[in-house]
Amino acid sequence: MPGNCFYHHICQWCSQQETQFHMKMCSQCKLVSYCSVDHQKYDWVIHKRLCKAVDFIARKGCQSLFSFDGTTQETWNYHRTRFMCSVELFLKKKLEVFERQMILFPNVCNFCFKYNNSYNPCVDCYCVYYCCKEHSEEDSKEHCKSCKELKSCFDVDLFLKDGPISLSVLVPLNSKSVFPNNMKEYIEINYESQTINEKFLISEELSFVLTLIYILLKSGKNNLNTSSSITVHVIGAGERESEIDKLMEIFFHWLPQIKQIKMLLIGPECIVNPGNGCQTYKFKGKSSLLINKVNDKLYHEYITEPGFTPPCVVMAYNCGFSEFADELSTWNETIQCILSFKNVLFVTTSYNKKEAENDICRVVSNNVNTSSLDTIKCAERNPFRSLRPIRDWENRSQTFYVNNFISILNLQ
Ligand SMILES: [Zn+2]
Ligand SMILES: [Zn+2]
Ligand SMILES: [Zn+2]
Ligand SMILES: [Zn+2]
Repeated sequence: MPGNCFYHHICQWCSQQETQFHMKMCSQCKLVSYCSVDHQKYDWVIHKRLCKAVDFIARKGCQSLFSFDGTTQETWNYHRTRFMCSVELFLKKKLEVFERQMILFPNVCNFCFKYNNSYNPCVDCYCVYYCCKEHSEEDSKEHCKSCKELKSCFDVDLFLKDGPISLSVLVPLNSKSVFPNNMKEYIEINYESQTINEKFLISEELSFVLTLIYILLKSGKNNLNTSSSITVHVIGAGERESEIDKLMEIFFHWLPQIKQIKMLLIGPECIVNPGNGCQTYKFKGKSSLLINKVNDKLYHEYITEPGFTPPCVVMAYNCGFSEFADELSTWNETIQCILSFKNVLFVTTSYNKKEAENDICRVVSNNVNTSSLDTIKCAERNPFRSLRPIRDWENRSQTFYVNNFISILNLQ
């Protein structure tokens, strides 16, 4: 499917939906479906790489996605990630997003995680399947809670198949002078005429800059709402954060007293412009943004460089600190460096509440020098979270949101 995502009930080639009966499945891997033999043929050029890997692993490695015999969500998660690793090892290459989704969201029963040839989808969202009527009924109470969100996930993904929305449409602002209380209000005021899918996507893009504005305006700490110059460091910056400069006009609109912002975006996945990561932008009212993008150093290495300017705010968007807690991770060192700063707000956001709580535990456990940490917010709902629901492969029938929960520590 164009747009880099995968759903089992639509044709992988043309995205046509089939809700009445099961579409024609690739008989070798059973991971993808097609509306016709022709479309299966057209897609083969793209699909054969994954399909052959899956087939080889099944025959030689005796490992199949559909031979899962566990019962719990945790073991099912482990089964799929292990299978995905085998495929990537075989191909010696990372899978594309849509290929990963084929493995993370296969057509197995949403209640027992077993595969059989029957096809009983939820007829409201078509995003989950059941092996039998009984399991569909058993799961209905739990699934009901997020069936609507799952349907929205699908609608937005399908809407995106023609490519991403242009960021330039996001900047024009309504001249209202009061900063809205939350994302929903913000979107209703400024993007009233957009469709629901556009609103979801706009909120996802804006969530990064609006969360920062919200912190500066509302935290009431360290004179951040009256300073004329501030320094913000974004750690673990990826593709999304690399685009934040395109939306900074919004930032200066709501914080006109800030004449200069120095911003560092740092992370191995940060997208750095060829030649030089440093750029200066001028905005209306003579405000300027100095942005520095770094992807060849870790933050704790960066701060030892000459000319390092200590930040006012350190942001870690969707930080995932807790996710790799057991493995060798460089986060510990980075977190320890940050905790040694003084008069700095350390802000983390997370996809869901459980993750947010674990992320903050990870931060606190790295407070080796017992710095004084004033907790302003601890794993609370972020009013400027994205409104776009995203399918959660780790928790069946659940969805998460970008920048969903927020923690704010004032380092003293
Ligand atoms: Zn088709
Ligand atoms: Zn196949
Ligand atoms: Zn079942
Ligand atoms: Zn449903």
